Amino acid sequence: MENILDFTLEELKLWMKSQKESEFRAKQVMDWLYKETWDFELMKNIPKTTKEKLKKDFYVGIPKVERVQQSKDSDTYKFLFSLEDGNLIESVVMKYNHGNTICISTQVGCRMGCKFCASTVEGLVRNLSAGEMIGQIISAQKEIGERISNIVLMGSGEPLDNYSNVLKFLSLVNADYGLNIGQRHITLSTCGIVPNIMDLSEKNLQITLAISLHAPSDELRKEMMPIANKYTIDEVIEACREYVKRTNRRITFEYALVRGVNDTPDHAKGLHNILNGLLCHVNLIPINEIEENSFKKSYYENVKSFSNILTSYGIENTIRREMGTDIDAACGQLRRRHMKSDL
Ligand code: SAH
Repeated sequence: MENILDFTLEELKLWMKSQKESEFRAKQVMDWLYKETWDFELMKNIPKTTKEKLKKDFYVGIPKVERVQQSKDSDTYKFLFSLEDGNLIESVVMKYNHGNTICISTQVGCRMGCKFCASTVEGLVRNLSAGEMIGQIISAQKEIGERISNIVLMGSGEPLDNYSNVLKFLSLVNADYGLNIGQRHITLSTCGIVPNIMDLSEKNLQITLAISLHAPSDELRKEMMPIANKYTIDEVIEACREYVKRTNRRITFEYALVRGVNDTPDHAKGLHNILNGLLCHVNLIPINEIEENSFKKSYYENVKSFSNILTSYGIENTIRREMGTDIDAACGQLRRRHMKSDL
């Protein structure tokens, strides 16, 4: 049995052919799936015999909603989903005036080992398939009863460590038979796996690339993110220049501010030196404090002056609005709490 959501239209056509069925049935099935009918029986225009064959070979791998937490102001929903094999993942939906945004997971756990992140504490369990990423979106859409128009790959996992499935996911999101969400409405966030950024820049996509930088020097970055031992900041920035050159898209840099670690005026100046002349935007994020480490959130006045220094150098930046802090919306926390309470 395979998850039918892992299939592209072309692949489903091939399957129809192999079953001696008409190819146009593939599009009909896709239409049902993406319009949120997940029961083959309810697909009215599909003949009974075809349904039987579908049921024999496929299941519809919609992640099951185990828990939904809604923030008090009700503009953030956090979902805990269970997958076919029982693994748990999280997604967050944020309601903005310009539309609903979902933050999805790309892996169960993560092996990148960033010191401040809850998703990586127990390492990588497994990659998510393209269909499991799609499933988070269609399941959440059904739950909130509204369309989701923006996607960020910023939940648990490192998207460029699950590269081929993420590429397939992007094509399914984009397809007119799929979610039909434009590439400009998608942001992929990475800790900076340089060869895959280079590869991505050749794919001619229009998605926004977000880089988790978090430090202005290799020395400090290595203390926060093991990936910095593999690729230097210079190499990451070089790959970003290539991405901008090929795609003309502005890069987003994420910078999580940790009290006394990376939040001084000197760090801000260092960040300016690195980013100078690059088409980019910096997201300043007061770090979310988690139980697993002792990193503390920067004082707001330091965040503000960090931002002002960048602005004075002409580097566009925003201080990220914190949403859903009352519902464990930071990476991996809901899943971890749930698993611990199960023990
Ligand atoms: N692996 C990818 C995407 C998932 S993490 C990446 O590294 O970009 C999404 C973002 O959340 C990253 O910028 C990550 O550094 C950040 N993050 C992780 N834990 C955090 C925390 N406790 N507080 C603030 N940001 C955090």
